[in-house]
Amino acid sequence: MFIVHVTPEIAPVAKVGGLADVVFGLAKEQEIRGNHVEIILPKYDSLRYDQVWGLTETYNDLWVPWYGGSIHCTVYFGFAHGRKCFFIEPHSADNFFNRGCIYGFNDDILRFAFFSRAALEFLWKSGKHPDIIHCHDWQTALVPVFLYEIYQHLGMTHPRVCFTIHNFKHQGVTGANLLHATGLNRPEYYFHYDRLRDNNNVHAINLTKGGIVYSNFITTVSPRHAVEAKDHGEGFGLEPTLHIHHQKYGGVLNGIDYEAWNPEIDRYIPFHYTADTIEDKYRNKIALRDRLLLSDNEKPIVAFIGRLDPQKGLELIRHAMFYTLHRNGQFVLLGSSPDSQINNYFWGLKHQLNDNPDCHLEIGFNEELSHLIYSGADMVIVPSRFEPCGLTQMIAMRYGTVPVVREVGGLADTVFDKDYSHRPLHERNGYIFRDYDFGGLESALGRAISCYYEYPEHFRELMKNAMRYDYSWNHPGQHYMNIYDYIREK
Ligand code: ADP
Repeated sequence: MFIVHVTPEIAPVAKVGGLADVVFGLAKEQEIRGNHVEIILPKYDSLRYDQVWGLTETYNDLWVPWYGGSIHCTVYFGFAHGRKCFFIEPHSADNFFNRGCIYGFNDDILRFAFFSRAALEFLWKSGKHPDIIHCHDWQTALVPVFLYEIYQHLGMTHPRVCFTIHNFKHQGVTGANLLHATGLNRPEYYFHYDRLRDNNNVHAINLTKGGIVYSNFITTVSPRHAVEAKDHGEGFGLEPTLHIHHQKYGGVLNGIDYEAWNPEIDRYIPFHYTADTIEDKYRNKIALRDRLLLSDNEKPIVAFIGRLDPQKGLELIRHAMFYTLHRNGQFVLLGSSPDSQINNYFWGLKHQLNDNPDCHLEIGFNEELSHLIYSGADMVIVPSRFEPCGLTQMIAMRYGTVPVVREVGGLADTVFDKDYSHRPLHERNGYIFRDYDFGGLESALGRAISCYYEYPEHFRELMKNAMRYDYSWNHPGQHYMNIYDYIREK
């Protein structure tokens, strides 16, 4: 099968969050299964060019329709750790992708609408007719709209579109100007409730809604979150649209890249180990303490790794930190936020705890350090308000680090409580709490710390159970192939 992913991110060359890991891991799995996979993304100035091999100009005559005129683009080809990527570079005063970072600008919606149009124009002009176009999040949600409203009429009738919503919170809601810019020229047609009109604001269009309406299949990134978004008010206003289109909607759990995240061969960690040599994990714990200047003692290390976004449960992360110290543990945080107020708040906490030998806060993005933390910590907390899938808990388990998570979204689909799960003992792999409050968090983290101190053998079993789970791309890879087959036959 010929599959094209249209995406704003791919790890590690253009990564902000989990979406980047998902696109890389899924594309790799699809190639392993014998498919031809290509990826189209913007040519950001902030690309990690040191991670792209053989970058060459491949198409220099792409004119993308824009506001009644057109913008000239150059397309580059390069390998991002083996993945075949086309990078689109527009030449215009808008300077869409030379902004130093990927998101955070007033014209983000226009920037990515342009990219979506450019991606289809490129497919069309270069004569590519993929079987599947797989697009990701609001940034590329207009791809199926352009395909069915413009390019199909030009003869591009073959591709089917799968649209994955990684996060319902960001939907790309904007005004009529966007239609004018992108060549979707009939506002009264697109401003219809059955098409792009936002469900809450009759004067706005909603890109994600357009993606849902026009795609052949829509997925979100875990079965639990698929239900939460449609039926439990977690769809940020898109619930009725998901209901209307429920027959082409489902949840596919993300996987993680089992080569990039593998304690047996990980080049970022000093001591390699498996479930059978789990003792060696503790040598990484010592290395982590060395690196972060934490004292060496019997205490468990509890870690948080992730974006410092309100979604991730900032109050509970802070509380986990003080509660862990109170319960005689050590706490490590690695995270950052594009919001300076949040960053400053955590910088304040860092200064407050600067002299504490049991606590370290690292404010910033550091892939390499994250590997050492996953391998050296005893527990990872993920106390999210909502979590479509969550990769951190799965990565942690791969490293024998016990997850302590809130029972939402993909966290609920992947973590099974040591004390309360209905699963057999050998399938229990962590700790869960339900209520988003301090008591809830303490009920799970407290049990984890008690088990660590009082029943080390049980804790060890839990670590091994976690390591034995298969959260690779193997199962989700097959799941997506089934979806592709299904929509190609329809
Ligand atoms: P989200 O997609 O909401 O950001 P996920 O849990 O799905 O959350 O994915 C987060 C990914 O980003 C994981 O691979 C995690 O290790 C990584 N990550 C997040 N913050 C940082 C950071 N500050 N430094 C290094 N890696 C990070």
